[in-house]
Amino acid sequence: PGDLDPGLGHGYVGELAATLITQDVLQAKIVALAEAVAANHTGDTPPLLVCVLKGAVMFVTDFARALPIPSEMEFMAVSSYGSSTSSSGVVRILKDLDRDISGRRVIIVEDIIDSGLTLSWLHKNLQTRGPASIEIVALLRKPEAVKVEVDVAYVGFDIPTDFVVGYGLDFNERYRDLPFVGLLGEHMYA
Ligand code: 5GP
Ligand code: MG
Ligand code: MG
Repeated sequence: PGDLDPGLGHGYVGELAATLITQDVLQAKIVALAEAVAANHTGDTPPLLVCVLKGAVMFVTDFARALPIPSEMEFMAVSSYGSSTSSSGVVRILKDLDRDISGRRVIIVEDIIDSGLTLSWLHKNLQTRGPASIEIVALLRKPEAVKVEVDVAYVGFDIPTDFVVGYGLDFNERYRDLPFVGLLGEHMYA
């Protein structure tokens, strides 16, 4: 943070208002989350990480590498109808899992829970496929998420309602490539 433009060095000069979570703080939290998940994991079968594209892609790759146990990785892409900054809960599958998850211990890896509508839809959908269990790990959570009825076992950071970008999170497909989480300048919404 400080006086430096957070977008400097990443080609987004003048676009970000502030750094919310630095790269170091993010990475330390991911290690802690991975250790907690591994400590609770029982059985010999590796957990199946289900990454929700595209937002969770940075998170799942760092998370899998921080996990002190073997894991397998699957990808799912869903689209929730709504504006670019909020979701409606009406979800469509853009890319489904490549594999059967019956009998598997599934860990849904999410970037952010805002209303929680996307996540509760996804949880129900995966539940119908007969997994042994489903746990959820979310890097970020906003205050609205208290209304979600699904249990989110692991959360990285509780953040304010402000719209954030970086580390997988986009605004109109931009900023996913940033290695930290930042606040978009208000002038960028216009
Ligand atoms: P929910 O269904 O929980 O309201 O929304 C979840 C999805 O909305 C996230 O996976 C993400 O794509 C998007 N979203 C919610 N809040 C933010 C935010 O602050 N920044 C960005 N970039 N996306 C967000
Ligand atoms: Mg997401
Ligand atoms: Mg998005």
